[in-house]
Amino acid sequence: MRAGLRIAEFDANSTPGFKGDKSAAKELIVERGDYLSKLQELLYANGRAGDRRSVLLVLQGMDTSGKGGIVRHVMGLVDPQGVSNHSFGVPTEEEQAQHYLQRIRRALPVGGQIGVFDRSHYEDVLVVRVHDLVPESEWSARYDEINAFEAEVAASGTIIVKVVLVVSFAEQKARLAERLERPDKFWKYSPSDIDERAHWLEYQEAYQAVLDKTSTAHAPWHVVPCDRKWFARTAVMELVIDALERQHLNWPPADFDVEAEKARLAQS
Ligand code: AMP
Ligand code: MG
Repeated sequence: MRAGLRIAEFDANSTPGFKGDKSAAKELIVERGDYLSKLQELLYANGRAGDRRSVLLVLQGMDTSGKGGIVRHVMGLVDPQGVSNHSFGVPTEEEQAQHYLQRIRRALPVGGQIGVFDRSHYEDVLVVRVHDLVPESEWSARYDEINAFEAEVAASGTIIVKVVLVVSFAEQKARLAERLERPDKFWKYSPSDIDERAHWLEYQEAYQAVLDKTSTAHAPWHVVPCDRKWFARTAVMELVIDALERQHLNWPPADFDVEAEKARLAQS
């Protein structure tokens, strides 16, 4: 993330670093999807061989920002065996009785997996802050706690990729309108989406605080404009590819004697 980035001034309709149009992006997703899939198989193979390395993609964004679409269109391109998806909604009664990081810890990817969080522990300093769900003294201590938690996760071999998907106020309205027009989209709509929309500015402040306080060397934030879904999808795909490349993976060596096995096979 660029230092000093102001989320309120961010252009959600921009396509930074990408010169092509929608059809070029769609072609690129297919082409790069093959590469992503190859890298994911490498990660998975290493996991099977006992390697603890993994990747965690954290997706945050307002309603309609396209978090679910990223999971379907980007992560859907790789072998589902190697992906663990978790959506974090309103905590259950049981979860509420525990520390807020407890349900997050349980969902962390194991070695060889790409974990995807559709919302995350950041809700505990976003919706919780905007709606005063806990006193300020409590939520304000969470930024440092989250940084320490992520440092620990990163040290255990997980590359953390944090993405804020930024949708504009106008585009959100258009997407909500579509959800109300189309019966095949009703399931995505919640009357509470309008209530949350009414707190737009407070959410922007809460997101700004997240960016200012929790963009660390081991887990930096990436702010991705998403008024054009095709751009957001290619951008997030490239971030995941980059994370996998940074694991510098090789195929795990055989844990058996290859020549001896060939000889046994020949004789069988
Ligand atoms: P959706 O992503 O559309 O399924 O909505 C999930 C809802 O759960 C959103 O309104 C979130 O703000 C809410 N949510 C997620 N995590 C928490 C949390 N820790 N506390 C309160 N609400 C949450
Ligand atoms: Mg929703």
